[in-house]
Amino acid sequence: MDVFNTFIEEIINFLGISQAWDILQSGNYEALRTYEGITALIFPIIPLLILLEFILGLIYKKPQTKVYKITFLTYVLNRFIGRFIAIAVTTFLIGVLEPYAPIQTSLKWYWFLYGYVVWEFAHFLYHYWGHKVRLFWCLHSTHHAPEDMNLSVTHAHFFLEAPYADAIRTTVCILAGIKPEMLFIIMFIDGTYGAFIHVGENLIKDGRLGFLNKIILTPSHHRVHHAKNPLYMDTNFCNLLNIWDKVFGTFQNEEKNLKIEYGITRKMNSGNFIDVYFGEIFALCKDVYHAPGIKNKLAYIVMPPGWSHTGEHKTAKIVRQEFLKERSMD
Ligand SMILES: [Zn+2]
Ligand SMILES: [Zn+2]
Repeated sequence: MDVFNTFIEEIINFLGISQAWDILQSGNYEALRTYEGITALIFPIIPLLILLEFILGLIYKKPQTKVYKITFLTYVLNRFIGRFIAIAVTTFLIGVLEPYAPIQTSLKWYWFLYGYVVWEFAHFLYHYWGHKVRLFWCLHSTHHAPEDMNLSVTHAHFFLEAPYADAIRTTVCILAGIKPEMLFIIMFIDGTYGAFIHVGENLIKDGRLGFLNKIILTPSHHRVHHAKNPLYMDTNFCNLLNIWDKVFGTFQNEEKNLKIEYGITRKMNSGNFIDVYFGEIFALCKDVYHAPGIKNKLAYIVMPPGWSHTGEHKTAKIVRQEFLKERSMD
């Protein structure tokens, strides 16, 4: 019976309904108006949408079983190890770095705006390096392996990616004087919206969301980010406010006549858990092993994916430039 109870608990946890369930059982509906009450109602939205999307996939006979199977396995791993380490990293950094912040903010609304812009910058940094430093790409590539888009991709992460991401984001935000309480609110909004932008075509066909496409980062922009088309690779690193993509020149709109091809350029089996999870690490080890000299070996670890000691680089930047050059000549 114990196994059964644990299983039920895990499902309630996954669905994010435990808080809301407690409030409903207590009959204290006033609690729904507090911050905890609001988050209790928002938490279940994404898991419930994942279920709905899965059911729609079955109805349309496009269940994308490969994606669901692999992301389920990674979800289980992250649930038990990744989250624990990430929380430990975050609390540790807050404790160590808070006294060193040159300015101190408060919980006023205008500091919230400041905090969100700083957070997006920190998110941009972590995400940009996740694509441009081969070692970090080993952590991030699991998220890019799925060859279809749906909400379950939200859970496709290597278990050490969250600690890496939170180390950078927490460091930047705490040093910028953002209060930990404010940081947690921002993390919650970012996490919820960050999950939503993985909504698949089964649920929302046009991810541009109308005029919002001009103001914020929409599912359409994030679909572009997950594409391996030369024009789309390594663009749209932001999460909700895409100001930093616009500042750093990595912004890219979805083009009507350029169909998105999801996945990564390396030949891989996206239905094989080992390949999805460890494939990039194996590939990096192989390149380091075969590279001549210590300088080349180190370069493979820190240079962007596609860098080669032979000089025949196939980085996303070069592939994109070649594409744009060819297109301008047509
Ligand atoms: Zn990415
Ligand atoms: Zn994503």
